[in-house]
This record gives sequence, structure tokens and C-alpha cells, in this order.
Amino acid sequence: MNCPCCSGKSYENCCKLYHTREKDPPTAEALMRSRFSAFAIPNADYLWETTLPSKRKYHNKKDLQDWGARNTWTKLEIVDKPAADTVEFKAFYTDESGHPEIHHELSTFRMVQDRWFYVSGIFIQS
Ligand SMILES: [Zn+2]
Repeated sequence: MNCPCCSGKSYENCCKLYHTREKDPPTAEALMRSRFSAFAIPNADYLWETTLPSKRKYHNKKDLQDWGARNTWTKLEIVDKPAADTVEFKAFYTDESGHPEIHHELSTFRMVQDRWFYVSGIFIQS
């Protein structure tokens, strides 16, 4: 299948390598893309493991899984990369009732022992 992150590559040659921990995402953007794919699949374990440990208390694995499963994730657009640890993106999805929605976020990431982690995000009103 085509990778849900819209890279144009197959899932096997893209985010699956990160989801299986065969490789670690080399950049904050690669991690961000793989997290979008993890919502699409969904794979809440991966979302949990790639959240900075000190920030995990703000998330709930079941909620992440439900949020991923409830919506249809249609497209990811990287809007801007203002710094090596910051990515602005739009995640396009269709909710349960068929409404197209856009989740627009400025996310911050941090590298710890050669692995990127998601720190937090600011929602942007489009
Ligand atoms: Zn991908």
C-alpha cells in the first residue's frame, strides 16, 4: 500500500521501518510523518513510544487509538519547518459523520539519545 504519510513511497519502504523500530526517524519531520501514519493505521503503541516520556501523562493510549480509528486520514501536508525541532503541518481527515476536517498544528520535537520524540503541539486555527 502507499504510505499514509503521502511520501509517494510504499508503506514498507517508508513509515513501516519506523513503526517496527527497524530504523529510527532521522529527522523531526520523518518522525512527524511516521506519527501521522500511526494515526492512519492506527498504531497507538508507536504514538505512545514516540512521545517524550515526561509528556506521556498528558496522553492516553486508548484515546490515541480511538482517535486514529474513528477518523479516515486522507492527507498530510508539511506547511513549514521553522527549525530542526519544529514542524508545522496540516493533517486532513474525514470524521465519523463524513465531514472533512483539518488538524493544523505546530509541533515541537526533541532528540534524546539519538532518537526523536514528540514534545507538544500548538493548534493553529485555520
Ligand atoms: Zn511514510
